[in-house]
Amino acid sequence: MQPLSLPPRLLMGPGPINCYPQVLSAMSTQLVGQYDPTMTSYMNEVMDLYRQVFKTQNQQTFLIDGTSRAGIEAALVSSVEPGDKVLVPIFGRFGHLLAEIAERAGAQVHTIEAPWGEVFDPQQIEDAIKKVQPKLLAIVQGDTSTTMLQPLEELGEICRAHDVLFYTDATASIGGNPFETDKWKVDAVSVGLQKCLGGPSGSAPISMSERFVEVVRKRHHVEAGIRDAHHEDAGGERIRSNYFDLSMIMDYWGEERLNHHTEAATMLFGSRQCAIELLREGQDQVIARHKQAGDAMLSGIQAMGLQPFGNLKHKMSNVVGVNIPDNVDGEAIRHILLNTFNIEIGTSFGPLKGKVWRIGTMGYNARQDAVLHTLQSLETTLRRAGFALPTGAAVDAALDAYGSK
Ligand SMILES: *Cc1c(COP(=O)(O)O)cnc(C)c1O
Repeated sequence: MQPLSLPPRLLMGPGPINCYPQVLSAMSTQLVGQYDPTMTSYMNEVMDLYRQVFKTQNQQTFLIDGTSRAGIEAALVSSVEPGDKVLVPIFGRFGHLLAEIAERAGAQVHTIEAPWGEVFDPQQIEDAIKKVQPKLLAIVQGDTSTTMLQPLEELGEICRAHDVLFYTDATASIGGNPFETDKWKVDAVSVGLQKCLGGPSGSAPISMSERFVEVVRKRHHVEAGIRDAHHEDAGGERIRSNYFDLSMIMDYWGEERLNHHTEAATMLFGSRQCAIELLREGQDQVIARHKQAGDAMLSGIQAMGLQPFGNLKHKMSNVVGVNIPDNVDGEAIRHILLNTFNIEIGTSFGPLKGKVWRIGTMGYNARQDAVLHTLQSLETTLRRAGFALPTGAAVDAALDAYGSK
């Protein structure tokens, strides 16, 4: 067997992306025991770092071990009891995922749908809430499948007014677009590292408000073999997952450190470094860097004569959909970009499959040089495939967008 040997790809798809080098270094750190005071103090530090990332005072802010959908599953399976009504406004693939996970948790799921490439008006969501009267609203913030960013600012207020819990999946948007847990009255949010946070997939930071925690706590049942005089069950229906039981995971991250899973320490080191990178550069600065890279990529795409997908007013800053021109074989172009230029861009799902490329500028790759290399390589590849375009216009437009000479 040879040692690992991977090509030096530039990952400009909708995620995963190349990690910050500091994150990779942090992940090669040796382990200590699970309850070693050094380890538990790093766990506390991670809780505090992610409170800053999420902009929240929520005590219950920690990591779910698993990819982003582990965070989604934990939030939904721990809050939703069989028969509970859940409203899921769907504007892309990940909305369908939220609906599916809620359904598997036993919820009575109600959906409303926006056309792919659009988002919801808060009024549409309020109308649906009035009609359905759900226990929980579950909605994606940034759906990489369509590149759209759903405005969330008003939804928390609407949910409070109708006594609905408000959960959002901000995996694809956090770090590259504004997110305000407390200000927007979000009750539960979960994310992943492999988009704008610049880490690998495999850890799902989550944060929960007091009112969300109360709902979960009512369902607390102590794990068999740990139950004793101090640790008793609450009255509610037991959460139908052990691994994603947020009531037990809270006890594990809390002062008691009641044993649950073995912390994925290496992922914790990586998650910690992702937060540090974001906070060291400054969240506003990182969001601005994503906006700048996204704007430059969009300008370049348009200067090449390509049409962006969807309503640009609601485009996420960190990814752009590009309509594949007629007479261009989208997969053949992606193949050349990958194999000749070592650049990965994304394909699409569902109704957009074969019709749209998705090009991301996220985390470590939200950089001018990454934008320029991608545009130049795409231009050359398209030109050689017979697509007529103004030579050099894309990189010029991106440089102009950056205000470069
Ligand atoms: C990319 C993405 C995910 C990823 O989920 P994984 O389980 O980490 O693959 C989840 N939600 C949204 C909105 C995403 O864009």
